[in-house]
Order: sequence, then C-alpha cells, then structure tokens
Amino acid sequence: MQYLSWAAVALLSTSYWFQIWKIHVHKEVRDLSMTYHVMLALGFGILTYTAYAEGSIIFIVKQVATTVPVIVIIGQILYHKDDHWHADEDPICSSCSNELEPWWKNCAYCGSETGSVADLKKP
Ligand SMILES: [Zn+2]
Repeated sequence: MQYLSWAAVALLSTSYWFQIWKIHVHKEVRDLSMTYHVMLALGFGILTYTAYAEGSIIFIVKQVATTVPVIVIIGQILYHKDDHWHADEDPICSSCSNELEPWWKNCAYCGSETGSVADLKKP
C-alpha cells in the first residue's frame, strides 16, 4: 500500500513536468490560466505547511513535488506571455525572422514573399 502511494506521488509530480516541457517547446501560454496556477500553488503551499505540522513524510514530499512544478509553470506563464506558438518544422522568415506557417505565401509580419514554401499545401 505504501508503494502504491509513492507511485501516485511520482505520477502526480511527473505529470506537471510534462506540462512544463510542452510549454518549454511551444513557448505558448495563452491558454493557461494564471489565476488557476496561482491558486493551485497557494493551496499546495498551505498543504505543505499542514503536512509538515502533522509530520506526514509522504504528504510533505507529495506537496513539495507538486508545488515546485506549479511555481515553475507560473514562471513560464510570466516569461512566455508575449511569445507565439512555436513548431520546429515551421519555416522562418528570411527578412524578419518571425515564424511562418507552411502555407503562407507572404510573411504575416513584414509582408515579404516566403519563396520556396509558397507551393506547400495547407495541412
Ligand atoms: Zn517576415
């Protein structure tokens, strides 16, 4: 039973790091709620304290392991709030270095022709 609880703690904590990795790769935070994450961090933070007061090791570890990644996500929301969606396979404008969608014939930022990507079809 103890092992099951530790496995659940590991799963919960790891799940947040997958979210953090997604944000790191796509630099996209428009759809993430700052209020949600701040309330989550506050709730987890308070429970970390009560877990400490009650002396429950597994509860403390669980709270720290979930509070830390939520705080990281809040940091990412602040850091990336002005960034745009990013996909590795998308071409980059040779004039202004902004990211282009593959089917664009002209850059949406500076208007210059995108050249070789013009005959690609929209997915
Ligand atoms: Zn451009």
